[in-house]
Amino acid sequence: MNKQELKKFKFTSYDKSYSTEIHIKNPDKYREIEKDSSLSDDLISMGSGFSYAPASFKEKTLSLKMDKFNRILHFDKKEKVITVEAGIKIYELLNFTLQHNLWLTQIPGYPLISIGGAVASNSHGKSCGIDGTIRHSIKSISLFHKTNGWINLSEKENQEIFDLTIGGLGLTGTIVSVTLKLVDFDGKFETTKQEVNSVKETINKIKKTEPSTFIYSWNMANDKNDFGKGIVFKNKILKTQNKKYNFKVLKKKNLLPINFWNKYSIKFSNFFFYNFHKLLKKSLDEKFLDVIFPFYGKEIYFNLFGSKGFIESQLIIPEKNIDEFFNEFLHLNKKLKPSITLFSIKNMSGKQKLIRFEDNNICVTFDFVNNKKNKEFLQHLDKLCIKYQILPSIIKDSRLEKDIFDKCYSEADIFRDKLSKFDKRRYYKSEISNRLKL
Ligand SMILES: Cc1cc2nc3c(=O)[nH]c(=O)nc-3n(C[C@H](O)[C@H](O)[C@H](O)COP(=O)(O)OP(=O)(O)OC[C@H]3O[C@@H](n4cnc5c(N)ncnc54)[C@H](O)[C@@H]3O)c2cc1C
Repeated sequence: MNKQELKKFKFTSYDKSYSTEIHIKNPDKYREIEKDSSLSDDLISMGSGFSYAPASFKEKTLSLKMDKFNRILHFDKKEKVITVEAGIKIYELLNFTLQHNLWLTQIPGYPLISIGGAVASNSHGKSCGIDGTIRHSIKSISLFHKTNGWINLSEKENQEIFDLTIGGLGLTGTIVSVTLKLVDFDGKFETTKQEVNSVKETINKIKKTEPSTFIYSWNMANDKNDFGKGIVFKNKILKTQNKKYNFKVLKKKNLLPINFWNKYSIKFSNFFFYNFHKLLKKSLDEKFLDVIFPFYGKEIYFNLFGSKGFIESQLIIPEKNIDEFFNEFLHLNKKLKPSITLFSIKNMSGKQKLIRFEDNNICVTFDFVNNKKNKEFLQHLDKLCIKYQILPSIIKDSRLEKDIFDKCYSEADIFRDKLSKFDKRRYYKSEISNRLKL
């Protein structure tokens, strides 16, 4: 390997937990993927580099950044099928498909994320209670592996590697193109809101699924008396003639060096958010962008964590354990008083397998300020994950340890065995794969 020839770049994960020098190559042609992959024995593919946890890089590793592979290769409107290169950004894909009244529902909440990154993390969108994860929309994948070469993957061809690649965090090789099934969208979103006073009331409301409706909540976690108080949002798709979509590229905002989030600012922003939605119209037409990409234009939320960043804990909790889990969570919350800036609940559907974050249960998200006190709280939360058979997200939580991961993901060893069978030398590596010994 010729690392001297490769330029070094400092790269930081989106949650700011990990920063290191890496090598980056931006292949532009198919033969450049082959050539660049031969430059290093430690490599990984990179989409937009927007994962909270360091999933597409590692110290001294070569990251193949796929953003020049952003073309639409094939589109069949009648069959509702599209083949795109993996580096295409979600907003670029939507700008094209929405002109034809089609879209992909399982898209993550930020428009600059790449399709390759969404496939490798088995992403889900706001509709995950009804549509599950992106796995359900993938027909086939074209993969390049440094020593195994070019491979077509689908349910019919190389099924085992297809299965390992979806949600496989780029560890099977470089996804070069993906064929996706699309669904109709010839409408607009109408958003309705309902106030809730507890976690129990929230869960009762979000469990009532309705066709073409996405349900999720925003709740408060800063005040023991108001714990769980919040708003349940419903986005219903309504048919309309009056449609116009054209999303523009966004730029990342600069980082603030100081953390702004503390118990006072969290209390104030929760009070403001709750009353704003309580007083605003209960039903309104919302822009596509605001519904599907809730953080679009609101990147300031992340910047306000300062240079130390944040920790996100996203958990899939079995419904049968949810009451007991929240009883213990509340007890710990009162005792350790963590600074929680975001608390949200939604339904998730699907079947857990390998290392995929997916199941037929309740999905709960918490954002924490990255500090010692909160990390201590999160260690207790890890124990609750084991106790209540909860699945913590790997791509979101950068501090998750192998021991916790192994106890929560029952097929972790099956993934490891199948991956080593496919790639004995284990060329593709990231900070996550290193930490979790994948
Ligand atoms: C603001 C924000 C909101 C988000 N909302 C959601 C959400 O609602 N739902 C959700 O599921 N996720 C969400 N995410 C997480 C995000 O979807 C994933 O982290 C996704 O993987 C990021 O994609 P990326 O293009 O930035 O890829 P990267 O971060 O660069 O890489 C992510 C993983 O994909 C692999 N990968 C990327 N491209 C390829 C390729 N071409 N071939 C092989 N492997 C590849 C990498 O190796 C890595 O393991 C959100 C992230 C942000 C920043």
